[in-house]
Amino acid sequence: MNPFEDYTTFFVQAIGNKEGAISPTITQSASFGYGDSETGEGIFDGSVKKPLYSRVGNPTSTKLESILAKMDGGVACVTTSSGMGAITLAVMSLVSSGDEVISIGGLFGGTYSFFNETLDRFGVKTSFFDVDELDSIKKAITSKTKIIYLESVGNPNMRLADIDAISKIANDAGISFMVDNTVTPLMLKPLDYGADVVIYSTTKIITGNASALGGAVVFRAINEGEDKFKGELYKDIHKFIKKMGKMALFAVAKKRALRDFGMSSNGFSSYLTMLGLETLPLRAARVNESVEIIVNELDKNGIDVNHPSLETHPHNALYKKYFKAGTGNLFTIDMGTKEKAFKFINNSKLITVTANIGDSRTLALHMGSTIYSDFDQETKKFLGISDGLIRVSIGLESPKDIILDFLESYKASNI
Ligand SMILES: *Cc1c(COP(=O)(O)O)cnc(C)c1O
Repeated sequence: MNPFEDYTTFFVQAIGNKEGAISPTITQSASFGYGDSETGEGIFDGSVKKPLYSRVGNPTSTKLESILAKMDGGVACVTTSSGMGAITLAVMSLVSSGDEVISIGGLFGGTYSFFNETLDRFGVKTSFFDVDELDSIKKAITSKTKIIYLESVGNPNMRLADIDAISKIANDAGISFMVDNTVTPLMLKPLDYGADVVIYSTTKIITGNASALGGAVVFRAINEGEDKFKGELYKDIHKFIKKMGKMALFAVAKKRALRDFGMSSNGFSSYLTMLGLETLPLRAARVNESVEIIVNELDKNGIDVNHPSLETHPHNALYKKYFKAGTGNLFTIDMGTKEKAFKFINNSKLITVTANIGDSRTLALHMGSTIYSDFDQETKKFLGISDGLIRVSIGLESPKDIILDFLESYKASNI
């Protein structure tokens, strides 16, 4: 049985229309006519539910948003122009100059520079920790800490966090907890573990075929009784809680980030994302199964592979606890040197060489010379970027073909 069986019915039924055009309608319009002034007034004060302007909401994107919110058990979702747009939206809607962020794990290159360089320029300081540094994380919390940020799977270090333990730290301290779940949609449900906000680059496995750049942020409902967002730390969003109740985090993101920064999704990309989403449960199950078979076989053949399904991986127990269905497309191979890594990639007949992940095709990239080429040695070490490191994203090809291709490339690279 497919571990994502429940979603198979939900996605295809929610995405297709029963009458008229079955394929979702693409609304490709920047602006919308209100008809008359009274309706215009109603649209702006929220009492009339009609599109206002595509920067703050597009009907095709709204359909995708309602499906993604349900997928994660959230109350609402905002789609964005890219995954970086989603991260920017989620973080910028909560932080002000002088605030602090604690970032744990991986870390995706763009996310790292966003926190370390860009947010820093606006007076928001981020401290970075490995997933296992729980005591240091607790000690790093100050009265200014607004966000604890985590990637579900370290990309590309493949380290896994004890999400329960980190969620407890955030919730005990009354701090918002955000999880970038790009690599593991359906496989991990962050809101079930006490996260407040889930972030996606839908560019990756959700769309799954390089046809559309996009992002999404899913929000939990604000509780009717006690809620950490009602505390002093978040006093600047209390007016949204008063007005919008359980939808407050969504309203904050729309008013403070989407409206003013404009990282908006568009109808055509949202349409392509829905076409991908329909088959996500099937592709995710296929890829998870393939990855385990492939890493096992490569490991047996003496290749230095890094994946948490391997007994020798330091987070194998966490893999079994939190990721019963798998951790998605990624694993890494360490070829020892840059030269050998280049040879391995160039010798392969299957690999598409690119910076993307989560595609239908198998992709790979040498890390040190590309995404992390701007980073100094110390940062590379922290992020686990060694000279011979290749990140692999397994596609839908037969695992037999991939194993054969990789073993041949490996052999030819060591001559
Ligand atoms: C790709 C990626 C992003 C950024 O997404 P884009 O759509 O490329 O902007 C963020 N986080 C993770 C984990 C990613 O893999």
